[in-house]
Amino acid sequence: MSTIPANEPTFRESVDLMFNRAVALMDLPPGLEEKIRVCNATYTVRFGVRLRGQITTFTGYRSVHSEHMEPVKGGIRFAPSVHQDEVEALAALMTYKCALVEAPFGGSKGGLRIDPRDYDEYELEQITRRFAYELAKRDMIHPAQNVPAPDMGTGEREMAWIADQYARMNTTDINARACVTGKPLNAGGISGRVEATGRGVQYALREFFRHPEDVKVAKLTGKLDGKRVIVQGLGNVGYHAAKFLRDEDGCTIVGIIERDGALHDESGIDVDAVYAWILKHGGVSGYPDAAHTAEGATVLEAECDILIPAALEGVINLTNADRIKAPLIIEAANGPITAGADDVLREKGTVVIPDMYANAGGVTVSYFEWVKNLSHIRFGRMQRRQEEARHQLVIDELQRLDEVLGDQWSMTPNFKDKYLRGADELELVRSGLDDTMRIAYQSMREVWHDREDVHDLRTAAYIVSISKVAASYRAKGL
Ligand code: GLU
Repeated sequence: MSTIPANEPTFRESVDLMFNRAVALMDLPPGLEEKIRVCNATYTVRFGVRLRGQITTFTGYRSVHSEHMEPVKGGIRFAPSVHQDEVEALAALMTYKCALVEAPFGGSKGGLRIDPRDYDEYELEQITRRFAYELAKRDMIHPAQNVPAPDMGTGEREMAWIADQYARMNTTDINARACVTGKPLNAGGISGRVEATGRGVQYALREFFRHPEDVKVAKLTGKLDGKRVIVQGLGNVGYHAAKFLRDEDGCTIVGIIERDGALHDESGIDVDAVYAWILKHGGVSGYPDAAHTAEGATVLEAECDILIPAALEGVINLTNADRIKAPLIIEAANGPITAGADDVLREKGTVVIPDMYANAGGVTVSYFEWVKNLSHIRFGRMQRRQEEARHQLVIDELQRLDEVLGDQWSMTPNFKDKYLRGADELELVRSGLDDTMRIAYQSMREVWHDREDVHDLRTAAYIVSISKVAASYRAKGL
């Protein structure tokens, strides 16, 4: 089941159309443009697993879009709607995403056509391990060649099974843990990976609101504080983005759209309470503290300052684009706006912070995890206490001043504790992510503002990333 209307281009065609818009403004050598656009290979596997006394056949894909850098990187999705076109579109977006945020990977994506809710944990483990086996034996899971990660329908648990399966098949590979990212901490994961994509959305918005000229283009004013937000999809990405924006940036979450309808409340919705409700009841229906409507689409079109589509592709399409009121949309999901809808929104003056940038927090922290696995040491392990010891020297001096100056000057309460503490892994990960999101935004906005023929951030993002991929190919002599 796809959310993209049948009369609109497919997801992959949409990505290609957006790509073409950007390359039309670039001066790429003939042939290179096509080399970058096309998907290098898609592997389809059909495998059987004996479940409940009979053999069930599953279909899975792993698509490699571009190997201008290796390993190639991208998540594995478990959903009944998975198909080749979708996996290829998502693999292409991974290429552009990694290039934009300077994660040294090519683009890939995998998918298994399955509804995970139909199986218990033991069965899912059998299925995941078998899929991992099929991919690993063809080097489509490999620390140096192809490194999967979580996506829709998968998480830490599935990544731990994949890592273990790879390790069983490669018993002497000292870097085996780097074959997949998004693992639990006790199986070689990194602090902050689960929250990473949502955190990246928050950092992206913070950076956007640091530029008053950009805020003005979106017909908004002031800071992120106090903005009214609607989020579509309260999965891992939507939940973390909404939670951080509400708890740390003073945003009000006025709408939450889920599979079974939407919640709407101008005075604000308690994201944690709704998340807990969804985990328990499977949807938002019956949630007592906000008005519920079965027509989720109406809330997508409701008044707000920022709309965050964080679920499926194609939810904003030609059937609803002209009714979307949000002046600023940040694409936390991959491909939530079709190429046709993108044209409508651009005409209307809606500012869209594009997926390849907005949701790059996940792969950015995956990059940190991969580096951690290859270096076999936790970030901060060598420096933390040394940093604290140096801070202690400063504190000792300030303490002396405090004693001498008596009532004229004293240290701010809490300063000592805050300053003394060296950064742990989570803080370093967040700092690396924040830096990445700021720099990538600045590279996009420079193209957006400096070039008269570029009118939107998406085209700017494509131009930045395609230039980087082209430079890699050129360096390889292509
Ligand atoms: N599936 C995520 C994405 O679409 C993460 C990919 C990764 O970490 O490799 O970006």
